[in-house]
Amino acid sequence: MNATTLHPFEDSQPTVLLIDDSVDVHRLLKARLRYEDLKLAGASNGKEGLEQARTASPAIVLLDLDMPDMDGFEVLRRLKDDPATLDIPVIVLSGLQSAQDKVTAFDLGAVDYITKPFNLTELRVRVRSALRLHRLVQMLAQRAQIDGLTGLWNRAHFNKRWTDEVSACTRHHRPLSLALIDLDHFKTINDTYGHPAGDAVLQGLSRVLQRECRQEDVGCRYGGEEFTLIMPDTTPTDAAGVCERILAALASISWPRHPERAVTASIGLAGPDVTADLSADQWLDEADRALYAAKQSGRNRVVTRLIGQVTPMAKAG
Ligand code: GH3
Ligand code: MG
Ligand code: MG
Repeated sequence: MNATTLHPFEDSQPTVLLIDDSVDVHRLLKARLRYEDLKLAGASNGKEGLEQARTASPAIVLLDLDMPDMDGFEVLRRLKDDPATLDIPVIVLSGLQSAQDKVTAFDLGAVDYITKPFNLTELRVRVRSALRLHRLVQMLAQRAQIDGLTGLWNRAHFNKRWTDEVSACTRHHRPLSLALIDLDHFKTINDTYGHPAGDAVLQGLSRVLQRECRQEDVGCRYGGEEFTLIMPDTTPTDAAGVCERILAALASISWPRHPERAVTASIGLAGPDVTADLSADQWLDEADRALYAAKQSGRNRVVTRLIGQVTPMAKAG
């Protein structure tokens, strides 16, 4: 896990998807947008365009209105009906000049409208401006999911991400582990050394998480002094190893504000080797139980709960 995990949007070149039945328009735009900082993807009809909008995660769509089979209005309507494509800004490209068409396109959710034959300089700046806006919106959405003190994902992000990871691993029968990490007697650090010292410990643990985890792992501040770590493609045995490493790294830190006082944490770990038929909430509950057991049995330790393995064979029978 590193900064790339936290800022997945920032360094990738945005994709612009052109949906137009005219080969000439594809050729023209390819030539004219060649030096822009973007990747151009193309579809020559509405059906293919919708498919690509779902799979290629374009930053914006350039959409022709006048196409055989499914016209641009219908494509726009479907893009806005699908949660997966609803947020993609659409610039309509059209030979239709009527005011009513423009009104309809904007009503259906288009962000801009360019009439053909288009002025290519104008097209370029409008694409740039839409990309800039899209990037800002994404940045804001992402910031809203980052914890200000530690720079880790926050609970809002965790809630969505955890549900997504559970369904992905269930679908693909891949292992997945979840750790709940809770600092031990953290209140006494605040009480003895002051709140800023407590904040520094929270930041210190976050740095340990970032250092000890792989890029695919997702570390979140769940709330207060509790953290979660989602480990995709990781069996509970391997995850326990990661957690032991985290505890060792935490225990070895010498804290500038209180070198005499070491800091420890307890970790509850839950995960099956073969994906169990378990909801995201039930799974989280299991990790919470494991954490409770770690606290009860003396703190500064990892407790793993292996949850009921239900193989597809067993389920069928
Ligand atoms: P246990 O080992 O049982 O987990 O005990 P604990 O003291 O860690 O747990 P408890 O839930 O009693 O206390 C959590 C403390 O965390 C209380 C709260 O003031 C403190 N806390 C929560 N958020 C922050 C924060 O952002 N900064 C600081 N400094 N303290 C925080
Ligand atoms: Mg605690
Ligand atoms: Mg707590």
